[in-house]
Amino acid sequence: MKISLKHLLLAIAWLSIALTLASSLYAGYRADQQTLEKNTLETNFAYAQKLAKMTEDYFLRTERILAYSASELSLSLDHANSKYLNHEAERLVVHAESLSSVIITDNRGMILGTSSDVRSFIGKPLLDEGGIETLTKGKATISKPYQSKTGRLVIFIAAPIKDMKGNVIGLIGGSIYLKEENVLNELLGQHFYEDGSYVYVVDENGMLMYHLNQDRVGEYVTQNPVIAELRKGHSGSMRLLNSKNQDMLAGYALIPLTKWGVVSQRPTEMALASSKGMLSEMILKSLPFIALSALIILYFASQIAKPLEKLASYATDQLERDGHAPLESGAWYHEAIQLDLALTDSFDRFQKKVDHFILESSTDPLTGLLNRRALNEQARILVEQKVHFTLVILDIDRFKRVNDTYGHNRGDEVLKYLSDKLKHHVKDIGTCYRFGGEEFVILYPNIEYEQATEFTDELRIDVASEISPVGEPITFSAGVANIPEHAEHFLRLLELADECLYHAKETGRNKVVNAPERNKRV
Ligand code: GH3
Ligand code: MG
Ligand code: MG
Repeated sequence: MKISLKHLLLAIAWLSIALTLASSLYAGYRADQQTLEKNTLETNFAYAQKLAKMTEDYFLRTERILAYSASELSLSLDHANSKYLNHEAERLVVHAESLSSVIITDNRGMILGTSSDVRSFIGKPLLDEGGIETLTKGKATISKPYQSKTGRLVIFIAAPIKDMKGNVIGLIGGSIYLKEENVLNELLGQHFYEDGSYVYVVDENGMLMYHLNQDRVGEYVTQNPVIAELRKGHSGSMRLLNSKNQDMLAGYALIPLTKWGVVSQRPTEMALASSKGMLSEMILKSLPFIALSALIILYFASQIAKPLEKLASYATDQLERDGHAPLESGAWYHEAIQLDLALTDSFDRFQKKVDHFILESSTDPLTGLLNRRALNEQARILVEQKVHFTLVILDIDRFKRVNDTYGHNRGDEVLKYLSDKLKHHVKDIGTCYRFGGEEFVILYPNIEYEQATEFTDELRIDVASEISPVGEPITFSAGVANIPEHAEHFLRLLELADECLYHAKETGRNKVVNAPERNKRV
């Protein structure tokens, strides 16, 4: 059983709906993801820029505070007692809020005063690079991160203290403890989402200055494309696999003052998560329309297929009733196969009927010989093909008397008897026709009239010597003529042969007369 037209239509229509839906959902999903990705990158970039600006502003502010304090100390550093200096250092820790500890040194780097938590350093030399640079070059510095004497990872912001002549007489500087609660935590730490977004800061060498996970502060990260970009001095955004192989959408911005970089990033999976929700929502919302379309398609497919189904089922019934076996056809779905079979079958029947009618219309029912219509047709073809042929017309002698004596039925038997004799005699060198009543015609294609005359005469002798169905022999007379020898066309040929026959009758019957003989005698 092959697939039906209805199922075929349904399958095609439903498949196309499914494909269209799938492709539009996919396109929508992709577009949404791209928009989300772009937006997240833009947001992170803007956010990183804002944080970079805030951080830089903080350092500038701290530098200003330290510079102001340095100018206050420029007159009094020489004679100031450590109590005063300690007080000033402590004041800065409290007021600047962002410095973890503050120290004040003389121009040799010897610590003169400190905030309370590092007071034990008083009288000891300051050994860090940033401080030394401040003292030697006489300008404010922000150090690179380094391990302080207390073992902490710190950065040191320092301003020189100068006398009236501009000579460096000392410095005032504050530390930020990177691994402890500090201003960076305040600036950056509160800005992370619960979905895995976070911010980190690296210095120009790729060392983590600030990270959500404080244990990672101080770690060097070099195999990260964002950090590589920052180290080249670039700001921007990108999608990347971070050092933990996580897919991230990152925005990054440089802090020009310190050459640090701020990175704000969000896991791609989190950023794009909402598009999955959108996809299922789209599917859910389009379900009623899909169901409606499916029903409409079902209805129309049934309507389209119904007439053909009926025709096909009718054809099947007909074929089954007539005991036909299915044919091998090129059709591959049910209705087409059935219609194919039905058409083939009805053409067969039609052809048989036509053949039957053609045979009936050209055959004489009594004798089974071809009739006058067939004779005309055959003669027309022979003339058209320019085949020369001889025509013999023969007529039973005194047949009326046979009928009168033995009855019409016996007369019919005589007609059948003579027909058989004719067929037997002529075999396949000519064709016999019943011309009408007790008259017959024989056509001999490609045979000369002499030979045909001879054949006919043999037949005449044969018939005349044999007992017919009426118990006695019958005789016939015949006329013979040839195309093109004696006539130019068929009508004239018939006429001529008939004249010969008439001549035979007139001159005694039971004889065969051909055209030249008749002309001789006339
Ligand atoms: P002739 O020798 O001059 O031909 O004499 P005839 O009696 O044969 O000629 P006519 O034409 O007078 O008679 C022909 C007869 O053939 C008349 C008709 O009754 C008979 N006949 C014609 N067709 C049939 C037929 O189909 N069956 C029978 N039994 N007789 C037929
Ligand atoms: Mg006759
Ligand atoms: Mg006759």
